[in-house]
Parts: sequence; structure tokens; C-alpha cells
Amino acid sequence: MRETTPPPYVTDILSKLEQAGFAAYMVGGCVRDMLLSKRPFDWDIATSAGPHEVTPLFRRVIPTGIAHGTVRVMCGKTGVEVTTFRIDGEYLDSRRPESVAFTGDLVEDLRRRDFTINAMAMDLSGRITDPHGGRKDLERRLIRCVGNAEDRFEEDALRMFRAFRFAARLGFSIDPAIFDAIKLLAPRAAALSAERVRDELQRMLLSNNPELLEPVFSLGLLDGYCPEPAPRPVFLKNIASLPRLAMFRWAGFCAVLESQGAITSTSAFLRLLRLDSKTVRACTRGMHLAQQPLPTTPVGWKRLLSENDFETVFCAAAASDAVLRTSNIKAVRSILRHGECFTLGRLAIGGKDLEGIGLQGSEVGRVLRRLLAHVIEQPSDNNRDRLLALAQDIVSGVI
Ligand code: ATP
Ligand code: MG
Repeated sequence: MRETTPPPYVTDILSKLEQAGFAAYMVGGCVRDMLLSKRPFDWDIATSAGPHEVTPLFRRVIPTGIAHGTVRVMCGKTGVEVTTFRIDGEYLDSRRPESVAFTGDLVEDLRRRDFTINAMAMDLSGRITDPHGGRKDLERRLIRCVGNAEDRFEEDALRMFRAFRFAARLGFSIDPAIFDAIKLLAPRAAALSAERVRDELQRMLLSNNPELLEPVFSLGLLDGYCPEPAPRPVFLKNIASLPRLAMFRWAGFCAVLESQGAITSTSAFLRLLRLDSKTVRACTRGMHLAQQPLPTTPVGWKRLLSENDFETVFCAAAASDAVLRTSNIKAVRSILRHGECFTLGRLAIGGKDLEGIGLQGSEVGRVLRRLLAHVIEQPSDNNRDRLLALAQDIVSGVI
């Protein structure tokens, strides 16, 4: 497999740490992604240096989690997490270790990580430390726990979601031992915060394989949010054809869940998962719009856009595309791309122009709305002279 290489700001941090006499490695997801020739989402460094030894070596350091050994070394606007090799203490709440102990040993640090493919390190020269067979699992395209799956999920229930997240993102299969462990331990997911569950679900929704959400439901990991029967994978798969934007994918997901009877209220479901209010509003309104037949012509879409904010219209389009396999998002995007007029703001004249020809008070708004309705059907009339002439005709009752 061809490897991608780390950017200079990462190699600079590694060499500064090494020059100061410490061991330092890139670890976790960035090593996995480099070996897959994918661009890493972020870079994590593990080092034998304690956080107070790391801090003076760099110009700008943010103490993001000193107690857990983590600082963020800033390189311009980008930050790199630098964490001291550590051994996690006991997990009492299935979420966070009660305590952590620092260690000088990289291999000890790799043992606390979730999956074999996430438990590799790479040094400045490109040499890889891989005590759990991560490279072999990358070749086999397999998500497998470091050590015993049950123990790992007992320590941190979020790992059950992470297994599906990585499988969905990478298109890998999941070790049967992971399924067996989840069957036993799924109820522990109830202890996780909604925000952490939401973030994992969102990453799955944004992947190419959202149909992997089906086992997440059917194994009971989402019982606290959606106790009804799991949605069918064939519908979940449709979500992958929506644009890779979180709001659209949530709208498509909720539409699939509603259409399958898995949820009865999009807004209640999204609120429970602590989605931001903008997404909740757009998805809820979009779902409502999509209950009526959606437009089949550009004029129809422009009318809908003139009556609703465009996020709502996009969510309605996403809902229908996910359930009915329509191409509505494409239709709405094309209208936006061509800069067509569907709001008063895009009309070639405004209230002041109408006042200039003698209109007053509520008459101004009424005529502007009539002009907009006209321009939605006749885009070529959206110019000042034509609209002023039309305004005169409206006022005098000719049209
Ligand atoms: P992404 O590409 O989405 O950032 P990642 O593998 O880098 O994926 P992060 O959440 O950024 O995942 O975490 C970085 C590394 O820290 C992981 O690769 C893994 O080694 C370790 N890690 C993170 N969360 C956990 C966890 N809950 N349990 C065990 N190890 C974890
Ligand atoms: Mg990462």
C-alpha cells in the first residue's frame, strides 16, 4: 500500500520533541489513514514527554486536557494534539477512565486504544509500531478490538458505536467477536451522552455506507432514542446519494425512519439527540413540506422557495430523495446555481422604486408580492423598466 506523508508542521513537532530527548510518534487515526493513502482528518502525536515538558518547547500551546496528558500545539490556525503515553485507569461509568497514569512506554499506550487499526504508531523515519496486527487488519479490511471486545466495550461503551463508524467510513467488515460483545453489552450505551452518540451517528450518515446504521438499531444501541423496529438497509443506503452535508443527511435519515415507522416525530428524535436548533427546525419543516406532493417544475420549486427558507426546502427535497429516490435536490440546486429570482430581495426593483411612482403603505408590499409571483413564472421580466410598467398595470387593475 502507498503511504501519504505528514505535513511539515507535524514533522516539526516530532523533531522538536526528539531533539529535546523524548520519544514521539504519530498515532491512531492518522497512521491508519496514511497507510490507506487517505488524507487524515487530524493528526495526533504521542510522546514520552509529560505535558509540562511539552509546553515550553513550542510557541503556542493550549492546555486542553492536562490531567489526561493532552495539550494542543498550535501551528497557525491548525492544532495538533500531543498526548503523553498513558495507561487508562479503571472505567467505572462506561465512559471515561477514573484516572490515567503516564508511562514511558509506547506499547503500553497503544494497548489502551480501541481497534487494532487505530493502535499503530509511526515515527519520524516512517517506521511503524504495530503490536496488535493493525496492518494485517487493514489488509483484511477488518475492524477488530485491541484485546477482548467485551472488556473494551465495558470500559467505554462509545466504542460500540465507533466500530460501526469506522466500518461505515472505511467500508470494512466487523469482527464477529464485536457483534457478540455488543449483543451482551448494548444496554450500556444508555449511559452515553446524547452528544457523543449524535456525533457518531452523524459520521455514519456522512459516510458512503449509512446502511450500517441498521445493525446499530437492531442490536439495541439506539433503544433510548428509537425503540421501534430498525429501518431496512435498502432505504438507509439511499442516504449515501444525498450531498455530503450533515443537515441534508439528517433530513434523509429522519424521512427514512418516519417512512418505516421507526420514529413518529422528527423533531422529538432530533431534540433527544441534541441536534442544533437550526437543523431540528429545517428537518422538521422539511418533513412537513414533503408530506404534500413536491413540485415537478422549476416554477413550482421557486414558489416553494419564495414561501419557505431554503434550508427547509432542501430538507424536503432530501427527505423525498431518500425515500422515493427522486432527484429533487438536484432540481433545487440548479435553480440556486442559475441565480433565479424567488425572493423579494432578488427582484430588480424595491419598495423605494414603487414609492417613486406614487404607491404608499401596504400597497407597496402587495404589489411587490404580485411582481414576485409574476417573475417566478417569467424570469426574463425581472428588469426595472418592465417591472415598473407591470406595477402600473397592477395598480390600475389592468392585470
Ligand atoms: P478520525 O479520522 O475520525 O479522527 P480517529 O481514529 O483519529 O478517527 P479520534 O477520535 O480522532 O479517532 O481518536 C484518535 C485516536 O485515539 C484513535 O485512533 C484511537 O487510537 C484513540 N481513541 C479515540 N477514542 C477512543 C476510545 N473511545 N477508546 C479507545 N481509543 C480511542
Ligand atoms: Mg482523529
